[in-house]
Amino acid sequence: MNLAFFGGTFDPVHRGHIAVAESASKRFDLGKVLFVPAELPPHKQHQTFAGFAHRMAMIALATQGHPSFVPSDIERRLYAQSGKPNYSLETIRTLKKDLKKADKLYFLVGVDAFMEISTWHRAADLLRECDFIVANRPGYSLGEIAGALPEQLRPKAEVLKAMRTRTSGFAKSGAVMSFSGVTLHLLEDVSERVSSTQLRAAAATAGKRLDSLVGPAVAEYMRKTRLYREGQQEEGVARAHSKKKSRRPGAASD
Ligand code: ATP
Repeated sequence: MNLAFFGGTFDPVHRGHIAVAESASKRFDLGKVLFVPAELPPHKQHQTFAGFAHRMAMIALATQGHPSFVPSDIERRLYAQSGKPNYSLETIRTLKKDLKKADKLYFLVGVDAFMEISTWHRAADLLRECDFIVANRPGYSLGEIAGALPEQLRPKAEVLKAMRTRTSGFAKSGAVMSFSGVTLHLLEDVSERVSSTQLRAAAATAGKRLDSLVGPAVAEYMRKTRLYREGQQEEGVARAHSKKKSRRPGAASD
């Protein structure tokens, strides 16, 4: 079976995440997409993120009706075992231990997160662990994606320059870049202009309907729990106007 690891903060999960998973599932014949919310150590939350349980619950609601989309608490379990936040490399290696011979694991990631990959823990090793599927968000070109690779894997400057000038916009969907033991598949047909940052801000505005961006079940959950609402005092819940802090899948304990 083909399966994908889809990591993120998911604070909250939204239509863009589901669209990415749907598109990747179709193109790569994925039998399972694991939605893996990052465990954020309490001292790093700074009241900026909704608690893990809330983020997990919203993923469960958002993936209803998609039998192959599975919420996974693996990062929480690894954190509980080791007592320290883990990196994507460890998560991927742990997942791979349970794979059957015929299984193939992909790392599914949005291009904006991928642009930071050289800052992730042992990025080159991670990139060699499994194929990556990089999903487009508007405004990125193939040259930029290749340029974001860690230095030892990055194509030479002249190659990058040629890629930038030759490619207008994102690479064609289905394009594959393969070199130095790294394989990147590019997924272009995902262009949902929605982000969790935008949703947290919108949720802070009383009465704003978010059903179309997160789906009715998640919107109802957010209303009932008053997630992201200003003045919300519940532990682990985001303050409406707190500054967004980057929390990317590979950067678990930077
Ligand atoms: P935030 O606004 O808080 O940074 P986000 O909307 O980017 O959040 P994350 O949980 O950080 O959501 O994203 C998880 C993964 O999904 C990342 O790889 C991210 O690039 C990707 N992703 C999120 N939204 C989209 C979208 N609209 N289109 C394509 N990829 C997306």
